[in-house]
Amino acid sequence: MINSKSSIDPNELRKLFPIFSKRSLVYLDSAATSQKPEIVINTVKNFYDEYNSNVHRSIYDISQEATEAYEIAREKIAKFLNIDKVNSIIFTKGTTESINLIAYSWVRHNLQKDDEILITEMEHHSNIVPWQLACKDIGAKLKIIPFEMDGTLSNPEKYFSKKTKLVSVTHQSNVFGTINDIDKIITLAKKYNAISVIDAAQSVPHFPVDVKALDCDFLAFSGHKMLGPTGVGVLYGKPELLEKMNPFLGGGEMIRSVKLNESTWNDIPWKFEAGTPNIAQAIGLGAAIDLLNQIGMKEIHNYEKKITDYTINSLREIDGIKIYGNAPNRGGVITFNIDNIHSHDLAQIVNNDKIAIRAGHHCAQPIMNKLNVSSTARVSFYFYNTFDEIDLLCNSLKKAIKLFQ
Ligand code: PMP
Repeated sequence: MINSKSSIDPNELRKLFPIFSKRSLVYLDSAATSQKPEIVINTVKNFYDEYNSNVHRSIYDISQEATEAYEIAREKIAKFLNIDKVNSIIFTKGTTESINLIAYSWVRHNLQKDDEILITEMEHHSNIVPWQLACKDIGAKLKIIPFEMDGTLSNPEKYFSKKTKLVSVTHQSNVFGTINDIDKIITLAKKYNAISVIDAAQSVPHFPVDVKALDCDFLAFSGHKMLGPTGVGVLYGKPELLEKMNPFLGGGEMIRSVKLNESTWNDIPWKFEAGTPNIAQAIGLGAAIDLLNQIGMKEIHNYEKKITDYTINSLREIDGIKIYGNAPNRGGVITFNIDNIHSHDLAQIVNNDKIAIRAGHHCAQPIMNKLNVSSTARVSFYFYNTFDEIDLLCNSLKKAIKLFQ
């Protein structure tokens, strides 16, 4: 049992994750995907063991149970984000699919030649490429808000215009850890009558996100970065927008009626959930949210701030290290390089000490280009990381430096 909403004890919380008892592992790559607690694994297993069936289709008992569990997971997500209207929650495969859904079902039907989509220079590829594809199809333009070298956005207001029809910004950077001032972006979007999209892949897992207070038009995130299974994510959309939008994918489930020459659509959210959904995964995500609520999102954020500060201070003591980004408001993601050691070598050497860090471009090549590097090392945290693990990391990095001297 968890000592609910007290301060975080990572050593206790680690016990909820089978992987940490099965192998020696310092896992510092939660921005890529989080580890999975037993309760999530068991919830998925229990679905297949006890009531595996399709949803929304049949009247027999196990199908009713599956449908109920699937829809309860949707309700849990709405509540977690402080959203009143459960029909504004669409299950997708993840952030990438959620953003593509907007690009296909809203942008391609509402934008015209020379209209503008605004993103930032610090986006993940999944918040760049879908807009590039849409702009190409429509003849619209993709405009970019640049970042400063400290990893903060540079005067976003300068890049809005009457032509801006949609703005899509990451809540927390997966490279710098910067928590962007999305209130300001959403307010600007309203002023210019543009649709606001928040890539919340790195924020929803780590701190409270109140969608009602934000009042954005769309918000996207992935279940696998917040203790849930892979293959399930969420798109929140304002119901009045979702109602007017065309479907994304066509097939079963998303229709009301089908004739051979035309069809009509189901109500939202099911209009956007064509085919058999990721039932077990969605139910597993519901279990993940229960656990996050029990631990407390504020507590998670506060703990991650502490471990991030500790890590930055410890890393700064290492000779030849360069940490990228220094935003005052940041989460638990730290990106760095060490002089004369390629980040892949660094990741390989610390791996010998059973420490998992990420090396590469982090699906953010425009950031790498501006930093003038081909790749960086990155560490990222969750509440199961301990301060001792940071000491192990720093010792391992120092060993790597010695090896390359
Ligand atoms: N946006 C950000 C900021 C991310 O960090 C990621 C995952 N690294 C994504 C989008 C894409 O998420 P997914 O691969 O789960 O669709």
